[in-house]
Amino acid sequence: MNIDFSSEELAFQQAVQKFLQEKLPADIREWTLKEIPLGKEDFVRWQKILYEQGWAATNWPVEHGGTGWTPTQKYIWANECANFGAPDVIPFGFKMVAPVIFTYGSEEQKQRFLPDILESNVWWCQGYSEPNAGSDLASLKTTAVRDGDEYIVNGTKTWTTLGQYADWIFCLVRTGGTEVKNQAAISFLLIEMNHPGITVSPIMTLGGHHEVNEVHFNNVRVPVGNRIGEEGQGWTYAKVLLTHERTGIARVASSKKRLKTLKKLASETCDGDANLLENPAFSQKLAEVEIDLLALEYTELRALAAVSTGQAPGPESSILKIKGTEIAQQLDELYMETAGYYGMPFVSNQFTSDFDGERVGPGVITSSVPRYINNRKASIYGGSNEIQKNIISKWVLGL
Ligand SMILES: Cc1cc2nc3c(=O)[nH]c(=O)nc-3n(C[C@H](O)[C@H](O)[C@H](O)COP(=O)(O)OP(=O)(O)OC[C@H]3O[C@@H](n4cnc5c(N)ncnc54)[C@H](O)[C@@H]3O)c2cc1C
Repeated sequence: MNIDFSSEELAFQQAVQKFLQEKLPADIREWTLKEIPLGKEDFVRWQKILYEQGWAATNWPVEHGGTGWTPTQKYIWANECANFGAPDVIPFGFKMVAPVIFTYGSEEQKQRFLPDILESNVWWCQGYSEPNAGSDLASLKTTAVRDGDEYIVNGTKTWTTLGQYADWIFCLVRTGGTEVKNQAAISFLLIEMNHPGITVSPIMTLGGHHEVNEVHFNNVRVPVGNRIGEEGQGWTYAKVLLTHERTGIARVASSKKRLKTLKKLASETCDGDANLLENPAFSQKLAEVEIDLLALEYTELRALAAVSTGQAPGPESSILKIKGTEIAQQLDELYMETAGYYGMPFVSNQFTSDFDGERVGPGVITSSVPRYINNRKASIYGGSNEIQKNIISKWVLGL
């Protein structure tokens, strides 16, 4: 396999580098390199710059305003962004609901929703999980009962990431009554968050942050025209969305950049008479992560190739999810080891870009402990890693 870039690909890489140098705002770059989560306005500001450039939707077909990039171009883009310090786009619109809309939505729905996602005018969130339906998602209980041209929605969604900012939520609802515990009675609904009857309540995470929420629906009236595809076919669309979501969680380019930064940090960190990078126990752990990451990169390229031919990523998205999140968490641990004493004070609000106090530790070290605590989530959301192993055993190994 030839993995050298062609001259066109090298020219594309230079164009990306030039664009990032000229257009990425310095403050957004600084927070991204320090691994401090951005606020809503920062994401929207950057996504609108991408829109102006025509590069906002790297995974959409050209006819809907996507870039139409090849897998190699997407690979170059992801790696240059990670290296330079450009944030990922928020996935709920671009990478989750949009592929469902342009694959299964009506023409009217495509015209109505896709342009606002492309321009980042609308913030989406994901309403799949419920208090008693996570891994066993098909047992969800939120109901949508038909009343003329509307559904009346009742129920509770949970762990809704960044739902406090959302204008719209895409939801799995039960259109066949709560007594039917099967996948055929599930439909896929798009719901505007400003409807009377919707309330959002925060869930504070272990690290002390407001990132996830509960969303309650109390007799919320939703037009039938907001249903994607057929009634009762929502499970099929939901699964396609999940494979896109899992592929995105692998974050290989980001882990490569983090590994590079970690090596530099370790080489500057004293360990007795030498530096931490020269410590055999530490460097062995680092080498193990690096080997796993290299192997994962090839799996990611296979998934990218599948998506570029119009297919949804297959079970390899589960492999990507498991290994990608394990590697990210191993890196989190090595960052903590490198932080050493700087990791001991717990200053949870320094993990936000608007913190104006004195940060503990230099550069990216400042976020290593909150990042470690926050990123325990990575092996849970998008379907826990145990569930991904079940998928692999069934669809890859045929067990
Ligand atoms: C930070 C965060 C953000 C999230 N964001 C969103 C969001 O925006 N929208 C959304 O809809 N959901 C979101 N989720 C929910 C996420 O998808 C669920 O948490 C996940 O699917 C697991 O469900 P659960 O929490 O109900 O755990 P459970 O399903 O109760 O699982 C508990 C444990 O049992 C294990 N387990 C369960 N069943 C099996 C099995 N059959 N075989 C082996 N092991 C099993 C699980 O792996 C897990 O370790 C988020 C979750 C987190 C933590």
